[in-house]
Amino acid sequence: MGEKIECAKCTKVVCYSRAFLEGPPNCPTKTKREVIEQALTEYDDPETKEFARQASIQEFEGYINLPEGSTPRNPRVEEVAQFAKKMGYKKLGIASCIGLMDEAKTLTAILENRGFDVVSICCKVGAIPKERIGITEEQKIEGPGSFESMCNPISQAEILNNEGVELNILVGLCVGHDSLFIKYARAPVTVLIAKDRVFGHNPAMGLYQSGAYYRKLLRKESLDS
Ligand code: SF4
Repeated sequence: MGEKIECAKCTKVVCYSRAFLEGPPNCPTKTKREVIEQALTEYDDPETKEFARQASIQEFEGYINLPEGSTPRNPRVEEVAQFAKKMGYKKLGIASCIGLMDEAKTLTAILENRGFDVVSICCKVGAIPKERIGITEEQKIEGPGSFESMCNPISQAEILNNEGVELNILVGLCVGHDSLFIKYARAPVTVLIAKDRVFGHNPAMGLYQSGAYYRKLLRKESLDS
């Protein structure tokens, strides 16, 4: 396996430049050449290459050069619509949390206004009781004895597969439920909203606040505790 890969702790971050060989001794740009070369062959598939090319153009178009300097210009929702158009997609799927139905509705309007055919599916589709996956009475949000539908990301994915959507857009699926959706979805998946019940669906705020009011996020604890 070699030295542990820890880009997140890198003090050089030269991989974006011509000095890419000047990274730390454990820099994967140097130590993982074989893996990188093998991975690169995936871009030889014309569909994958075009997807990567359009994504890179989307990245480029995210900035505008103003007299005062390079300036970001597109909110993510704009970028999702622009990227889907670049790819020539006509039919888009929204997989949303039941707690973000308003957001799903607004997103639908934004995409339909641009000519897309939009299919949307709520996480509780099927109304399957949580008992089906082994949830106990004590583990129900509304308390013992209540009827609670399970979040059903596999059905969400299979329904959107069945509908033949060309791009899936996630709107606030829970941690883990999003993983299952991504695992079962056939078309590519992009995330518009990552659920964060505390920080208004801005999970990065937890990181920004970990040096201040949310210092507890940096506490040490073992995997067993
Ligand atoms: S790829 Fe190398 S230079 Fe780039 S962040 Fe990782 S360790 Fe640093």
